[in-house]
Amino acid sequence: MIRTEKIEKKFGKLPVLKGIDTSFKGGQVVSVIGPNGSGKTTFIKCILGMVVPDKGKIFFDKKDIRNDFSYRQYIGYMPQIGHYPENMKIGQLFAMMKDLRQQSSSFDEELIDIYSLKSMYAKAMRTLSGGTTQRVSAALAFLFNPKVLILDEPTAGLDPLAAEIIKEKILKAKQDGKLVIITSHIMSEVEEMADSIMYLFEGNIYFNKTLVEIKNETGEEKLNKAIAKIMKQQTHV
Ligand code: ADP
Ligand code: MG
Repeated sequence: MIRTEKIEKKFGKLPVLKGIDTSFKGGQVVSVIGPNGSGKTTFIKCILGMVVPDKGKIFFDKKDIRNDFSYRQYIGYMPQIGHYPENMKIGQLFAMMKDLRQQSSSFDEELIDIYSLKSMYAKAMRTLSGGTTQRVSAALAFLFNPKVLILDEPTAGLDPLAAEIIKEKILKAKQDGKLVIITSHIMSEVEEMADSIMYLFEGNIYFNKTLVEIKNETGEEKLNKAIAKIMKQQTHV
């Protein structure tokens, strides 16, 4: 569904992505992990067309995204930090988003319901806690029933119950054949959801393997231990 070919991106003199090759199909959860500043957000913003790579190509359903931005209607995006018009009320925000996408006739409002956002429709975005803003971002990402979900640190800032709800939603989306790309630094959570793990380190893909491969190759049951082992092996070569 999505393929990237030798993506390179520098911010000023700082090389952030140094040639990222990937290929993602539907029906799976891909976890992009790596230390802070390793380029996770930059990578997903390239896929979204919000950051333009210096070199390389990105294909969505085999079409180069540079030629046609319409692919974005198939992606639901939850930003790491959502920025919304301060004075807009939650209800107005959802109404506006629906108006912008009139071609969609059916909406997935499950998260709006489970997160009880309707009871807060009259609240202005600027008055919301970080956790509520994240719930709004999550509900927006799923609203149009997109075939690709790109979620940047989706559970950061959510309370445990709200985090559990979005995890269930992610697994359901995968079962429906959608592609879900998640960045995360919480290993237990990655372990629960991811089929494959792409580890970004200093602008390169350090490894890109399935969870099963990682566990088999290292003989470790716990993902954090398995990754520590891979890191040790690679630095000793
Ligand atoms: P991650 O999401 O893995 O924490 P980011 O992709 O946000 O990493 O950032 C990677 C690096 O690129 C960091 O050093 C960050 O400061 C830098 N960076 C990200 N966006 C910009 C930008 N718009 N302008 C300049 N530097 C940026
Ligand atoms: Mg980030």
